Amino acid sequence: MARRTGAKCRLCRRESMKLYLKGIRCSGDKCAIERRNTVPGQHVRAKRKLSTYGVQLREKQKMKKMYGMLEKQFRIFFDRSARKKGVTGDILIQLLERRLDNIIYRLLFVTSRAEARQMVYHGLIKVNGKKVTIPSYTVKVDDVIEVAKKDSVEKRVKDNLEMFKDRVVPEWLSLDRNLIQGKIERLPTKVDAHLPIEENLIVELYSK
Ligand code: SF4
Repeated sequence: MARRTGAKCRLCRRESMKLYLKGIRCSGDKCAIERRNTVPGQHVRAKRKLSTYGVQLREKQKMKKMYGMLEKQFRIFFDRSARKKGVTGDILIQLLERRLDNIIYRLLFVTSRAEARQMVYHGLIKVNGKKVTIPSYTVKVDDVIEVAKKDSVEKRVKDNLEMFKDRVVPEWLSLDRNLIQGKIERLPTKVDAHLPIEENLIVELYSK
């Protein structure tokens, strides 16, 4: 599947905010946003005032980059949201949160969504006992998420869980740290996601 390559920190600097793309580095003082929060590029001048379209576009770019998606796939998720009953922006966030790679990240099995995608691609994640290799797979309530029974994988995940022992998983998920197993307790809401993004601007952008 197509994926974005190139400097991840540059993506955060472009949006002037942390998108948490590089795992533990994002929480440390080596984070580029902490050290040099300037828009990348050789000829960057003082920040220009964005047009309405520009503001909407930047919100969409932030969300897309945060979940590690390319335009085509992001648009598919948006169209799925728009077809469902309810508030499109809220449904979009819910669908993005229900992606399998995001679940692995939220369960603290990995340090970044990119690492989660790798694990899924490599067949190291099971949903209800069956291997799933599609990072965009949409989980449902009561689904049980586990890692493959391999010493190296279990050790890696246990090390991450130990490193993140002070962090809590979102309320809509439950985590058994001993079994290395997570469960979807309920569907997430916009509030659960805590995204620093105005999703209504994305809806306005795509509704033009
Ligand atoms: Fe973004 Fe993480 Fe790089 Fe900081 S370290 S700029 S949060 S990718």
